[in-house]
Amino acid sequence: MQGAVLYGPRDVRFEERAAPRIIAPTDAVIKISATCVCGSDLWPYRGINPTTEPTPMGHEYCGIVEEVGRAVTSIKPGQFVIGSFFASDNTCPHCHAGYQTSCQHKEFVGGAQAPSLRVPLADGTLVVTPEIPSPDLIPSLLALSDVMGTGWFAADAANVKAGATVAVVGDGAVGLLGVLSAKQMGAARIIAMSRHPSRQKLAREFGATDIVTERGDEGVARIKDLTRGVGADAVLECVGTQESMMQAIHSTRPGGSVGYVGVPHGVELDGEQL
Ligand SMILES: [Zn+2]
Repeated sequence: MQGAVLYGPRDVRFEERAAPRIIAPTDAVIKISATCVCGSDLWPYRGINPTTEPTPMGHEYCGIVEEVGRAVTSIKPGQFVIGSFFASDNTCPHCHAGYQTSCQHKEFVGGAQAPSLRVPLADGTLVVTPEIPSPDLIPSLLALSDVMGTGWFAADAANVKAGATVAVVGDGAVGLLGVLSAKQMGAARIIAMSRHPSRQKLAREFGATDIVTERGDEGVARIKDLTRGVGADAVLECVGTQESMMQAIHSTRPGGSVGYVGVPHGVELDGEQL
């Protein structure tokens, strides 16, 4: 089969790869219905994370189960499934606490930008839909593989409550779905920090009540203006840079919460400021 492989900064090749097969008895092999590029793929693509060997790309996926290992009990060939970017057993203490991405047996799932994919720990990792979805639903289901769950977690970790004022730093897929999650959780006011008109439009569609285009200290000042100097109750940090992290922390009211999901790169925090 052919698949996308990252060789180094800005060097992605679509080339012949070995078709995946069952290795461990807890594996499944799925035929990919849809996959995509994640914001976190950009770190190695831009060379900020080094690529030490050719790396098959893609960790967001959904598709039809083709084959399962002999120890897999809940997943069957022919089912439509959505999986996470970390395989997890869903039985260890960390999984039971709701932190499947920190599973004691976690394995990163890579190589989904290809016709088929091996998924370890299939019973714990894959979620079966009630029926085979219609094609128009598949892009939305694909979003559940990473960005929707990540955006939801950002809102959950930021302790978003009904009636809260929420600020979202970052307007990529995760930030936008953080807006949607905050709306679902009943936030009264959702301030999306975004500079891109198309994303601002989507943010409003998902529930944003205000848009702030400024960044850094100016962005913080705008949040303070909008909240009568108080700051937001809950802030979702969905970028992962020093600037975005400080923007998030400084936008938060005393005693408020920041949920950070932008994979932090070179972020350093001053304990006293926290
Ligand atoms: Zn686990």
